[in-house]
Amino acid sequence: MVLHVVLLSVSMVSLLALSQGPAEKGRSAGNESRSAGVVCTSSSPFARLHDVPLRAVRLGEGFWQTRRATNARTSIPAFLASRDEVGALDKLRGRPNQARGNSDADVGKWIEAASWALQGEDEPQLRQLLDQVLEILLASSEPGGYLHTAYRQKMPAALADLKGGHLYCLGHLLQGAIACSRAAGDNRLLEILASYVDNVVERFGAGRQLCWSGHPNIEMALVELYRTTGRKRYLDFARYLILETDLTKVPGARDVNFQHYVTGVPFGSRRELRGHAVCALYACCGAADYYLETGDADLWRTLLALWRDLTHHKMYVTGGVGSLPATEAIGDRYDLPNERGYAETCAAIANVMWNWRLLHATGEARFADMMELALYNGFLSGVSWDGLRYFYWNPLLSRAERTGAARSEGSVNWLAHKKSSGLGLDVRQPYFQTPCCLPNVQRLLAALPGYLYSTSPAGVWVHLYHSSRLAWHSEAGEEIVLVQNTKYPWTNTIEMTLERVPAGALSLFLRVPYWTPGATIRLNGKPFRTIRESGVYDEIRRTWAEGDRIEIQFDMPVRAVYPNPRLRENAGCLALQCGPIIYCLESVDHPNTSVFDLILPVDAEGVPGPFTATFEPDLLGGLVTLNGAGLAGPSRSTEAKLYDFQPFDAPTERVLVKAIPYFAWGNRGPSDLTVWIPRTRPR
Ligand SMILES: [Zn+2]
Repeated sequence: MVLHVVLLSVSMVSLLALSQGPAEKGRSAGNESRSAGVVCTSSSPFARLHDVPLRAVRLGEGFWQTRRATNARTSIPAFLASRDEVGALDKLRGRPNQARGNSDADVGKWIEAASWALQGEDEPQLRQLLDQVLEILLASSEPGGYLHTAYRQKMPAALADLKGGHLYCLGHLLQGAIACSRAAGDNRLLEILASYVDNVVERFGAGRQLCWSGHPNIEMALVELYRTTGRKRYLDFARYLILETDLTKVPGARDVNFQHYVTGVPFGSRRELRGHAVCALYACCGAADYYLETGDADLWRTLLALWRDLTHHKMYVTGGVGSLPATEAIGDRYDLPNERGYAETCAAIANVMWNWRLLHATGEARFADMMELALYNGFLSGVSWDGLRYFYWNPLLSRAERTGAARSEGSVNWLAHKKSSGLGLDVRQPYFQTPCCLPNVQRLLAALPGYLYSTSPAGVWVHLYHSSRLAWHSEAGEEIVLVQNTKYPWTNTIEMTLERVPAGALSLFLRVPYWTPGATIRLNGKPFRTIRESGVYDEIRRTWAEGDRIEIQFDMPVRAVYPNPRLRENAGCLALQCGPIIYCLESVDHPNTSVFDLILPVDAEGVPGPFTATFEPDLLGGLVTLNGAGLAGPSRSTEAKLYDFQPFDAPTERVLVKAIPYFAWGNRGPSDLTVWIPRTRPR
């Protein structure tokens, strides 16, 4: 690993000192820090794929780079300013403040977002902000590394109360510190937090004081800390929290709130997804991390059962998760209400994170497919085009008349309202009283280059298509430079050039997404392969020459998505999809007809349309819209009867229908929204 030694910087010395403990797996933490991916599976014995560090991938112009730049320049600084305003930084300084209990977690996520954003980007102002926040944190740590402000205010009660908030904040601070180490080589915060965790591990866990993870996330952080330092105690503590905590002995175990968050069912015994959506999926992420290190077969069976339950019964077509707004929980099978659903932005993010881990355990495209679906739809809908406004929840149907005050007084979602700034729920907002989604969006966007590629001993895996330059090496240590050029997801063509190649054979694993009927591949300008399978990785193994060019062309028709008949609310409807993008109808594009009166005629095969995909450069930074023919009924006023013995007039008037990507809705003022559209019966 010559490359790693060259990259070792002076600032790594302190982390080398940190890793001098009993590194049971012989990891060399300092050497690997800046070569570690976002979720570092490079030494994970049960990972089939190994992710690459963020610095190995530079995004070119395109879909995600535009959003990533807005994230770094606008969203991340704005969130820090808002946290400062509510006192989250004063809380860390020990000054009077009005910050919420878990505000340290917001700061931890912010550090993670800023660190990943600064990887490879020159943003001096953001770097300055990150330094300032780190200084505040470093100055605020207690002897023993304690950094939780509730501990300072309430100790020792807070320490004895090691549940939700305490470990939740520690988990996010740890993830921030690890990102800071991997992206910037700054290990100061990581050193302090490692001693904090050492103290926690000494007092709590198996055979000691009871401890449990109220809002999971610490499990992921503990496994990542183990990956960073090689200290097995962190992995053992993760195991304790995931599999061994006796939940029946937790004070208040029968409490509704506890049951709601933790479900009361030990993770290893779960066979269906229940409880708070974000908690449930974060728990899956931590368990998947633990599996990647240990190969625990029972845990793997649990993970697959839960994934199947999610994807076959409990996930929105957008990759969103969570259908019970009052408790923010996952509902029963097929209980996926469009308007009253919840689908928190954080839950879609957790869906991305979980699938990324399962992908690395298996190399199976179904997990990358799910990750891409959640990424382009349920996740991205959570942030506005300008990077300054957010959705906490992401419904699939919304009515403009219920936005603003009307909605906030309504009966729909008291909890989300409680968490909102009071401006209403179906309009994007600059912040929420519980602002978890904001830095969560920011850290994922910032880390996104790390989600494009992985390696295995056989070669390089391409998971996501985007203009980019991968400059890394094969697992045998030979240099690889792979350049990708594409306007995906707006076009169906991807060009790749291999600028540096190993001497021997190397496989390229190209993802053929589930949504395409097929693809053609050309090599150096000549037809090479036609693919009729989808939802797979296509392996091209050969001895490459520098300058070899691959061109992939996916069939990317506008497709109708039909719901399982048990989704009663969507009976007789379809949704439109083109590539990875789920589309919706918004009233701002249909000034003369309510989007709720539109029907799509379909042919004998159930295909609507035809729809034309049109790139509109001036619409929200450039979007592909779908334009086709629909039917509309006579305008029905709100004075019309609710029920009648006569059928209501069938829509007959031909009208133009325009669909926009679901993620883009709500950027042009209050509006009616629907993803599911009634259709005629196939002839
Ligand atoms: Zn959230």
